[in-house]
Amino acid sequence: MFIEYIVGLSGLIAAGLFIYGLKAMSSPVTAVSGIVTAGYGMVFVVGATFLNLFNVSPDARPHLMVNVALAVVALLLGCLWTGWRGRTVQMTAMPQMVAIFNGMGGGSAASLAAVSLLSDHATSGLHLSVTIVGALIGCISFTGSIIAWAKLDGRMRKPVRFGGQRIFNAALFLIALALGARTVMQYGTPEGVLPGILFFGAALLFGICMTLPIGGADMPVVISLYNAFTGLAVGLEGYVMGNPALMIAGMVVGSAGTLLTALMAKAMNRSLTNVLFSNFGDTASTAKGPEGEMKSADPSDAATSMRYASSVIIVPGYGLAVAQAQQKLYEFVKMLVADGVDVKFAIHPVAGRMPGHMNVLLAEAGVPYDMIYDMDDINDSFATTDVALIIGANDVVNPEALTDKSSPIYGMPILNAYKSRQVFVIKRGSGTGYSGVQNPLFFQKNCTMVFGDAQAVLSKMVEAVKALGTA
Ligand code: NAP
Repeated sequence: MFIEYIVGLSGLIAAGLFIYGLKAMSSPVTAVSGIVTAGYGMVFVVGATFLNLFNVSPDARPHLMVNVALAVVALLLGCLWTGWRGRTVQMTAMPQMVAIFNGMGGGSAASLAAVSLLSDHATSGLHLSVTIVGALIGCISFTGSIIAWAKLDGRMRKPVRFGGQRIFNAALFLIALALGARTVMQYGTPEGVLPGILFFGAALLFGICMTLPIGGADMPVVISLYNAFTGLAVGLEGYVMGNPALMIAGMVVGSAGTLLTALMAKAMNRSLTNVLFSNFGDTASTAKGPEGEMKSADPSDAATSMRYASSVIIVPGYGLAVAQAQQKLYEFVKMLVADGVDVKFAIHPVAGRMPGHMNVLLAEAGVPYDMIYDMDDINDSFATTDVALIIGANDVVNPEALTDKSSPIYGMPILNAYKSRQVFVIKRGSGTGYSGVQNPLFFQKNCTMVFGDAQAVLSKMVEAVKALGTA
């Protein structure tokens, strides 16, 4: 009785810690403490799971020791692997890591459903149906996230498409549903075993088939959608297992993932159906590039222009993360501010390779939050700004997205850097961005390229401003 009370209390505390942790993650100031808090929640849940062992009768305990040993081995392997990956992963490889971790969540929910079906845990028709729905969503999230990981990691470069694919996918989904229904109807009988196995196979295959045709540029939205799926699947399995902590954690992840999916789709000006069922993101190679020549300047010339400007807006992008030049950038910015220049940072919601990528980079360098502006808050200011400094950004400042209907990024809102009086762009050469299209802004009259790795260019710019002395 006492153990039961402790287990229940631990679940409640864990749920509270998850909710508090997620709330704290919504601001860069408290995000780190939010992650740590949610981690403590996990410790409570895992501890309570092991305490449950004392709830079973002493005779039954020896039979459970194999399960306990397996759980300990799984925990050790999981902690060692994720601990090592978390420490060593490059910032630019975070999206694929998020995708694979998310897939593990979906796989776990599907495994819980399988165990629940095998151990007669599901006691009523409602329980069984919820188990099957959770399993379906968990399987889709598991295999879908693995494909998303392969695409983001560059292992699968092209979307896989074939004629009649949508009909094939719809048929596969209906087959999975029918097999699930059959599993529920024949549950507990020997005839129910085969449909059950086929149901899991069809659901796993559907996750793969659903993700294969989606273009790389849509992967941010897809990952957050699968994140929502995983949360939902975990929540449903929590209901089946009668585990409130699992239910609450699943619901929190599910609703946060749903909100993030809606925000990401809005940031790219795309509806979810458009993301899932259209061919966005692979027409880049056929798109015709802009004509004309790019002008270029030395880092010192660009730095001098900014030193004598009265306002500068900085647009960071993926290249800044690749170069790990955020510290150098802030050193440069502090010098401009000390000389009386009004400096602001403009953040596009899908700049970089994961939601909040640029905010994390700038926070890492210690840039104060009041210098950082979201797209909607700063877009009108570009027209009245002396200099827009674009660092390793391409797609998020591509005016083609506003005007060229044939462009694969048409419709995506952009940062209006092209409207500034003078635009400087730091990038290594004429490489395209994630979507693979060239940017006409780089050929505009008011735009000057400063070629080179962002870290090297910014170092030279810092030296140039130092050489000018203070105002
Ligand atoms: P981008 O369009 O991918 O462009 C990055 C640019 O950085 C490239 O043109 C590259 O040009 C330059 N670059 C690379 N390494 C550099 C270095 N060391 N120093 C200087 N420049 C460097 O980046 P973005 O403007 O940030 O746009 C993000 C794109 O990623 C969007 O299309 C978005 O949809 C997509 N996406 C976003 C997420 C997300 O959640 N945020 C996730 C997945 C995909 P050079 O080769 O010429 O240097």
